[in-house]
Amino acid sequence: MARLLFRLDSDLVYTESVRSAEQQIREIYRILYGEWGAQHWWPAESPFEVVVGAYLTQNTAWTNVEHAIAHLRAQSLLDLEAFRTAPLATIEQAIRPAGYFRQKASRLKLFVGFLDRRYAGSLDLMFAQPTARLRAELLELTGVGPETADSILLYAGDHPVFVVDAYTRRLLERHGLASPSATYEQIRQLFEQSLSDVKTAQTARASLQGAGHQPSAMSTRPRPPAVQTFNELHAVIVGVGKRYCSKRNPDCSSCPLQTLLPSP
Ligand code: SF4
Repeated sequence: MARLLFRLDSDLVYTESVRSAEQQIREIYRILYGEWGAQHWWPAESPFEVVVGAYLTQNTAWTNVEHAIAHLRAQSLLDLEAFRTAPLATIEQAIRPAGYFRQKASRLKLFVGFLDRRYAGSLDLMFAQPTARLRAELLELTGVGPETADSILLYAGDHPVFVVDAYTRRLLERHGLASPSATYEQIRQLFEQSLSDVKTAQTARASLQGAGHQPSAMSTRPRPPAVQTFNELHAVIVGVGKRYCSKRNPDCSSCPLQTLLPSP
């Protein structure tokens, strides 16, 4: 089947058409969410805990982050005021299981400094800013790339942005929906366009299939339907990446998305 090229910003992404790519993404969501249900991301008790987790999860497995978060919780350091006044060395030791602990501790302190200077120490005030403006500010912070910024915006601040990670990119490439040269921004834009009118209701029901977590204070607080959709789609894509779409040996024959693979 002939493929057409289309443009998102300046680079090329290929598929049969923009409309087809958007339909495929909606279908991916329909299949995975139908299969696994609500994933209850992000597992945290407060927006600050989400911010901390978004930094800690860089370059490490979530299980290591859980250990670091447990240490912080045991020392009451998931409270913004306590974190602000704690010595850097105390934070470093607490988050040691997450790896790169010195770098991550100093970057988290930088974030708190930014919050204090710019928003009088208020996460509510920070998250009340327009999405594009706040995103640009977060991206200026040392150690905050697009995935971390968007995780903070979506999961801690309920801003309607889609988080693109390595699993997302791999899935799109394997299904012929994006070229390897597609940028983070192009993929983010494609997902946000595809899902802008898809509404997902929140549910308290727990599903530990896919990449599901137990319900938490953050995963059950009310949020807009579009935010909920971006939240769930990112989570189920992580689920498919962990369970089936590995880097070297994808298990397509068992994967719920097998029917969507392009013909060879
Ligand atoms: S495992 Fe195969 S079918 Fe599943 S998402 Fe990856 S490429 Fe698609």
